[in-house]
Amino acid sequence: MKALVKFAPGDGNLDIRDVDEPVCGDRQVKVEVAFCGVCGTDLHVMHDTFRNYPPVILGHELAGTVVETGCDVAGVAIGERVTVLGATAVTCGVCRYCREGRFIFCPARRGMGHGVNGAFARYVVVRPDQLYRIPDHFTLEEAAISEPFAAAVQAVTEVTQVRIGETALVSGPGPIGLMCLKLLVAEGVRTIVAGAAGDDLRLAAARDFGAALAVNTADTDLGDAVREATGGAGVDVALECAGHPASVRGCLEALRPLGRYTQVAICGREINFPIDQIFYKQLTLCGSICYTARTWDHMMRLYAQGRIRLHDLISVKLPIAEWRTAFDLCADRKALKVLMHP
Ligand SMILES: [Zn+2]
Ligand SMILES: [Zn+2]
Repeated sequence: MKALVKFAPGDGNLDIRDVDEPVCGDRQVKVEVAFCGVCGTDLHVMHDTFRNYPPVILGHELAGTVVETGCDVAGVAIGERVTVLGATAVTCGVCRYCREGRFIFCPARRGMGHGVNGAFARYVVVRPDQLYRIPDHFTLEEAAISEPFAAAVQAVTEVTQVRIGETALVSGPGPIGLMCLKLLVAEGVRTIVAGAAGDDLRLAAARDFGAALAVNTADTDLGDAVREATGGAGVDVALECAGHPASVRGCLEALRPLGRYTQVAICGREINFPIDQIFYKQLTLCGSICYTARTWDHMMRLYAQGRIRLHDLISVKLPIAEWRTAFDLCADRKALKVLMHP
C-alpha cells in the first residue's frame, strides 16, 4: 500500500513509499482508514522537531471501518465505524502514570504517527481498547478529528473546569482553539477569541461558531477589547492556544484577579512574560497536554448527545499523494482542518 513515510532522521526525509500492508495479529483489529487529519505535530515530525522513530508512517487523527479482527478479539464487528486513540499504541503499563491512567507521561510511550506506524495509509492495525465507536449521525470526516478535539475537551472541561456564567478568552483560533470555542459555546460560556495577522479566515469561523467577540490583534488592542466586553472586569479564564509570546502576555493581561490560565499550545522555545501578573492577580496557571481514556469516553458521550458537531471545522480533503499541498495549507494557516484520505 502507499503510505506517507518519514524514512530517515533529520529535516525532511518524508515521502510517499510503497510499504507492506500491516498484518492483523490475534489480539488486533485491522481498520481501513477513511480520513486522517493533518496536524502541527506532523509538520514537527517532518522537520524533526518532534521525537520520531523512522522509518514510520505519519498520521494520528483517524477514523475508518473495521475490516478484520484477530481470533482472540471479542466485541468488535467487521464494518463498525471507529476512531482510534493512537497515543496509547505503546506504553509500559506498570509505571506510576500508566497505573493512574495518565499514559501520556509514561516514559516508554510511543504514539501512532511518530512512534509507531500511523494512518496516512490505507490500513492500520490497533488493539481493540484503542477503538471508539462513532455514533450513526456522526460522519467519518468529523470523527477523524477526535484526537485534537479530545485535547480541547480535557483543556476546557477537566483542567480549566469552565462554568456557565463565566467569560472566557481563547487566544489562538487554530483548530484546537476553535474546538475549545465550540465546547465553551455549548456550555453557554461567553467567549472572546483573539487572533493575529493572517488569522482572518479562522476569526470569521470563530464568529460563525458563536464567539461573542473575535478580535484581530493586528488592528485592535486586545486589552481594550476585553475591558470593553467585560465592563472593565477582565475575563474569568484564558486558554492560550497560539503558542506565541504575545498571546501568552495577552492572556495574562486579560484575566481578572483570581482568574485561571491554561496553556494549551506549545511555544517551542523559552519566552519572556510578565510573571508579576500571576502574583498581583493571584492567578492559577495550568498546562493541559492531550487527554486520558476518560476524556475520550466523555467525548464519545458528547458526540452521542448530538450537541457538538465538528464537520464545519474541516475545510479541505486531499488524497495522501497530495500531502505537500496539505502540509503547506496547514503551515500557512490557509485552512481550518485539513484531512487526507488513501
Ligand atoms: Zn494532532
Ligand atoms: Zn508507563
